[in-house]
Order: sequence, then structure tokens, then C-alpha cells
Amino acid sequence: MVVRDFRLYRKLLRQTRPYWLHIAGIFLLSMLSMPLALLMPLPLKIAVDNVIGSQPIPGFLDTLLPTAIAPSDPAVLAIAAVLVVAIALLNQLQGFGSLLLGTFTGEKMVLEFRAQLFRHVQRLSLSYHDSKGTTDSTYRIQYDAPAIQWIVINGFIPLITSVFTFVGMAYVTMRLDWQLAVVALGVSPILFVLTQVYSQRLRHQWTEAKNLESSALSVVQEVLGAIRVVKAFGREAHEQDRFIDHYSKSIWALIRVSLAQSFFSCVVALTMAIGTAAVLFMGVKHVQSGILSLGDLLLVNSYLTQLYIPLMNIGDQVTGMQRSLASAERAFYLLSETPDVIECKHTKSVSRVSGAVTFDNVSFAYDKAHPILRHISFEVTPGTRVGITGRTGAGKTTLLNLLTRFYDPSDGQIILDGINLRDYKLADLRNQFAIVLQEPVLFSTSIAENIAYARPDASEHDIIAAAKAANAHEFIVSLPQGYETQVGERGMRLSGGQRQRISLARAFLKDAPILILDEPTSSVDNKTEAAIMEAMERLMNNRTTFMIAHRLSTLESCDKLLVIENGRLVSVTSEVSAAIKDSLL
Ligand code: ATP
Ligand code: MG
Repeated sequence: MVVRDFRLYRKLLRQTRPYWLHIAGIFLLSMLSMPLALLMPLPLKIAVDNVIGSQPIPGFLDTLLPTAIAPSDPAVLAIAAVLVVAIALLNQLQGFGSLLLGTFTGEKMVLEFRAQLFRHVQRLSLSYHDSKGTTDSTYRIQYDAPAIQWIVINGFIPLITSVFTFVGMAYVTMRLDWQLAVVALGVSPILFVLTQVYSQRLRHQWTEAKNLESSALSVVQEVLGAIRVVKAFGREAHEQDRFIDHYSKSIWALIRVSLAQSFFSCVVALTMAIGTAAVLFMGVKHVQSGILSLGDLLLVNSYLTQLYIPLMNIGDQVTGMQRSLASAERAFYLLSETPDVIECKHTKSVSRVSGAVTFDNVSFAYDKAHPILRHISFEVTPGTRVGITGRTGAGKTTLLNLLTRFYDPSDGQIILDGINLRDYKLADLRNQFAIVLQEPVLFSTSIAENIAYARPDASEHDIIAAAKAANAHEFIVSLPQGYETQVGERGMRLSGGQRQRISLARAFLKDAPILILDEPTSSVDNKTEAAIMEAMERLMNNRTTFMIAHRLSTLESCDKLLVIENGRLVSVTSEVSAAIKDSLL
């Protein structure tokens, strides 16, 4: 546990290092509040002692004033009045400065941390996202990352201030009567142990509460993402129950945290009461035996309260910080996840490949227990049109996922232009493919921007040409806002066929050497399919194309046909049209 804490603090330190000057500034500003508080009664003292009374004015005023002034001079009263305002102003300035610098530093740190988490999440492999879901990562970026601000600005700085105050007070008490001070401080080891024990317990409970809260949030996200299905099957009430059930669990976790926290405060207060009682007991004995005067006893007693306040604050700070530490731990955990698909050190840059692809005895499993692809080997020369067919669930999409390195094969290798895929720079490799996914995904922006997703600098002319090739131009211009039509979240305001044609146009615009089409015409009617296939003929020229289709007629123009069955490549045919005719007969 201690090692784990040490690691967490080290990570926090590393994360906040660029801001240590800011943090030191905030710290100094907050330390200013102590002398300012001591200055507060000064004007009153001057008024009473020097203006009403006739004591000589203090030395520092003497140096401030141009000439020697008699104590009862109205100027001294004026100075006292000005001091009241000046001290109030300084106080406000101190508060304003530390709030401003605190907010600025905190927000900058959070933004930087969030950006780092987001960058990392985007780099994590699909298998991570497949298994963890999106809400967990969202929660960690949105709700856990800000903990870093709390820990540094609202946690550590007040903690250190409290430690300083405690040390100062301990010193003063020590000077008055060291034996009493030792008795008073005797409770601090107990408090230290208590704080340690409760911190660990609270951290554990907070982590559990956070996990539960994040899983409750995932119900919302899942339901809203599939709201059509929920409505269609009339499952609203069921989902409502599921939501309440998840949140109830997190509420119980939070109640347990509150209980532990109040119990801790209770134990701390009792421990301190015992300390005070012991001082009282010993103090009276000391007074009776003449070691201590009665006045000193009263003084020590009042200092004791002052001594225990920072001690109590330290305990509260440490336990209160556990929530943020639990969050920080969750956020750092996300950063420590390593992507499965990693870029090697000595990668090769490439601008445009010719498109020769070899699968060499490739096997793959999403999870180790269930092999999906088994010993697949085939070779494709540049410019070949490869058709892939097979029963649903056979592994066709998976095969192409390996080619784009969404996943890495568990065995065997894939060679592109004579080089293993793993030896290419990942960004360069992905740049070689224009992909139409089985389920077209659009972003909630305009149609034009969706088509230009792969090439944001594309001209309007290029966008329209790509839309024409995908047989989408006609329907786009018939929409009231044409290319500027907003497609809604995930493109939900368009029909399935329209979405598919826009994602085709997007692939056409990319102009990559390898074209990957996963059932590109599954959602359009036969006539539209024929028109798209005709436009695609031109596009497929001089490009290696992989096209998955269930309708064999779609694959008629292919040079090579791969048939996948149950994860195995069962046939590779070069005489495609003859083979298709045979199987249709
Ligand atoms: P279809 O014609 O229906 O699109 P397909 O041939 O493209 O089918 P794949 O999507 O490659 O099939 O899936 C092959 C197998 O892999 C299926 O049995 C499926 O259950 C499994 N599978 C697919 N994606 C994942 C994933 N992300 N995690 C775990 N298993 C998966
Ligand atoms: Mg598929």
C-alpha cells in the first residue's frame, strides 16, 4: 500500500512539475495570510496606546514619518485609520491573488492532464475499447482528471500550511512548559496512526464508489445510444430500473464513505479531548507544586486549542484528499494502459505503396480461448481486385481489420510491398487505405465535412466529384441545404443507404492505393448498386481492392475470390465469373 502511494505521489509530482513555480507562488500567497492576520489589531493598538494613551510611537512608524511627531498628533490617528483600510486592502489583494493564481494553475493543469488522457485513449487499441466500453474512459477524463487540481491546490497547500502552523504552536507551548507540551503532543502518534488507517479505508471506498458511479453512467450512455431499440421493444421501464439499481449501489457506497469519515472525526475529537484532560490533570499538579503559575496554565490551555486545530485540520485534509487520490489513481491507470498495437522503434516511413499484399499463415483470436482466423495464406499482386465472401460470422471483417492493423495477428505475418506491417509507421500505414466500414459512421457535422473527413483541405469540386462517383450527389442536392445539411449524431438524420453512399464518397476522396470495402452496397437497392459499381470500376483501376459482399453478383468484376468458412480460407479462385456462375447454378 505504501509503495502504491509512493508511486502515485511520484506520478503526481511528475505531472505537476511544469507548474512548480506557480504552485510556489500560491503557497507564498497563502502564507501571507498569517502575518496579515497578525497586523489586523495593530491600528487599534496604535489608537489606544499612542493616541489615547501617551506611549511613544513604535519605531517602524517613526521611520515612516518625515519628521519626529508627538504621539498625540492627529497624524498618528490618521495613520491608524489609513492602516485599517490598507490592511483590509492587502487582505483582499492576497485573497484575490491566490484565488486567481490558484484557478489559473489548477485549470491549466487539468486541461493538460485531460489532453494527455484523451491523446492516450485515442492511441489505445480497439481491443481495449471493445472490452472497457466508452463510458469508463469518458468518466476518467471528465470526472477523475480534475482531481489533480484538488490535490495540489486545495489539498497539499493547506496541508503544508497546517503543518507549519502546528510546528510554530508546538514550539511556543514547548517554551512555556515542556512537560505539558510533551503530554499534549503525546496524542499525535495516535492521530497519525488513525489517519493512516482511515486514509487507506477511505481510498478503497472511494475507488469502489467511483467504479459504481461510472458503471451507472454507462447505462445512460448505452440507452441513449440505442434509444431506437429501447423504444421499439418498449423497454424504457426496464432500463429505468437498471439505472436506479446501479445508482442505488453507488449511493450505498457513498453512505459508507460518509460513515467512515464521521467516525474518524469522532475518534479524532475524542483523542484530543483525552490530550486536553491529561494536560489539565498535569497542569493543576504543576500549579499546586509551584512549577507553573496559574496564569501560565491558562495560557498553555488556550495554546493547546491552537495546537490542536492545525492537527485536526491535517487529519481532515488527509482523509478528505482520499477522494481525489482515488480519482487520480483511476486517471493514471488509464494512462498506464498500453496499446496492443504498438509502433516499433525503427519504423519505415512510406508515402505510397504499390499494394502487394501477402498473408503468411495468419491466425487471430480476439480472446485467447476462441480462435477466429486459422492459418490464412494468400498473395495479392498490386492492382488486384479481391472479392471476399463467406457465411456471416466467418471472419471476413476480422481479416481486413488485421490488414489495417486495427488488431495484430496472434500468429503469422502480413506483408505489404515486401515489408511486415509492423515495420511501417502506423500513421503512414493507415494512410494507404481508404476504408468503407460495414456500419458507416458519420460525424454530427455537414455532409460536405463528412465527405472531406480524410482530406480536410479538399476543394468543393473534389467533394462533389467524389459524391458523384458514390452516386450520392443527386440525393444530396435534393436536400434543402444540399452539402451543408447537418447529418445529426452518427448521421442519424439520413437513411442507411444515404449514410453508406456518403462513407463511400469519403473513401473515394481519400485516393489511397488500397481500397477496403466491407459490404459497400448492402443498404442500397439494385439499381443504385449497379450505378455505384459502375462508378467504382473507374476507381478500382490501378488500386488493390478488397471487397466483401454476400451477393455474389456484386463480386463479378473481381480478379480473385476468397471464400472464408469458419475462420479458414477454403478456396482462392482466379476464374471468378466462372466460379460465381457455377455456384449460382
Ligand atoms: P458478417 O458477414 O456478419 O459481417 P464477418 O465474416 O465479417 O461476418 P467478423 O465480424 O469477422 O465476421 O466476426 C468473426 C467472429 O469474430 C464472430 O464470431 C464474432 O463473434 C467475433 N468477433 C467479431 N468482432 C469481435 C470483437 N470485437 N471482439 C470479440 N469477438 C469478435
Ligand atoms: Mg463483417
